[in-house]
Amino acid sequence: MIDHSAHFIADHIHELKPSGIRRFFDLASKMDNVISLGVGEPDFVTPWNVIEASFHSLELGYTAYTANAGLLELRQELSSFLETSYQVSYDAEKQLLITVGASQAIDIAFRAIINPGDEVIVVEPSFVSYAPTIKLAGGEPVVVEATEEFAFKIQASQIEQAITNKTKAILICSPNNPTGAALGLDELNQIARVVEEHDLLVVSDEIYADLLYDESFTSFASIENMKKRTILISGFSKAFAMTGWRLGYAAAPEAIIAAMTKIHQYTIMCAPTMAQYGALEALRNSQSSVIEMKNSYRQRRNYVVKALNEMGLPCHMPGGAFYVFPSIKETGMTSEEFAEALLNEQRVAVVPGHVFGESGEGYVRCSYATSMKQLTEAMQRMKIFLKDKIK
Ligand code: PMP
Repeated sequence: MIDHSAHFIADHIHELKPSGIRRFFDLASKMDNVISLGVGEPDFVTPWNVIEASFHSLELGYTAYTANAGLLELRQELSSFLETSYQVSYDAEKQLLITVGASQAIDIAFRAIINPGDEVIVVEPSFVSYAPTIKLAGGEPVVVEATEEFAFKIQASQIEQAITNKTKAILICSPNNPTGAALGLDELNQIARVVEEHDLLVVSDEIYADLLYDESFTSFASIENMKKRTILISGFSKAFAMTGWRLGYAAAPEAIIAAMTKIHQYTIMCAPTMAQYGALEALRNSQSSVIEMKNSYRQRRNYVVKALNEMGLPCHMPGGAFYVFPSIKETGMTSEEFAEALLNEQRVAVVPGHVFGESGEGYVRCSYATSMKQLTEAMQRMKIFLKDKIK
């Protein structure tokens, strides 16, 4: 049957491209014997105590809506967690909002702050949602490129050069998806100086904060004078292995949280209640599981970085998250050609770098959130694949 419904779709949605990550995921799912280094989620199951706490909330009959901003008990626990872990203090009742994943927090943060035509500076290569959600909110993403030359760490001077009189905010994500790059205190301080000087806001996606391997994490909001200029976004998906629970949060000054809560209240009502009870347990009693998973990721990171460099795909040692972003330039292929050929010839799925922004061309993203056994096999297959491809 011919589908005639396309002309009903709004023009700006026609212009929105589907995510390139999903395309590879779908291709790979139709093949046998594929090792996927494609999708960015933990291979671990959520810690059992978290699952049990969620079951238990259902057994107790806690099946109704919570407050729009989320269970107060969860916000209070989150407030202590942020204070203890990152030395940032937020009022549980006025400055925290529990969302449906960090994804929803990103969406409503932009919708809360953007007037038509406002510009938001986005550091690319980046997570695929930022530019589309800025556009959906009526804003203009302005791209600045983090380059390999600086180990994919954006320089404050690059941000400064992109500022115009329409700039409202800067989006930063550290540790980063897809490069794994983590900004150091110096770099964050320099960005803070630019933010202050130009009276801007920062949307800081800190979802990989607890997966930083060699140093301790600095929240952008903890830098002097920055809390009042920061919308801190994070969630439970990555460090707690809770992607399917769809639970995240935003921490920000009161007026911003109030604005975001208005949108949230009309569009979502509240995040799922049983997931919120799980998250409460995660914050209270799952730190040892987080550390165990983190240690395992660190070991895998070290292995994969060494293996890729040895086979002729140069890559930096990423500071955090669970991705490596090797250069494939020596093969002479585009990142799309590389990923497609690797999947067809050796059944290994990686994501072409260009889906994370034009500056990602020439690289592929490999997620190491999969078992050492799978990773070892994937590295062997990639080595065979490259045999006649690197001159
Ligand atoms: N930000 C970044 C940088 C991510 O990589 C992801 C997930 N891939 C998200 C946000 C979204 O996470 P959530 O599952 O909490 O919506």
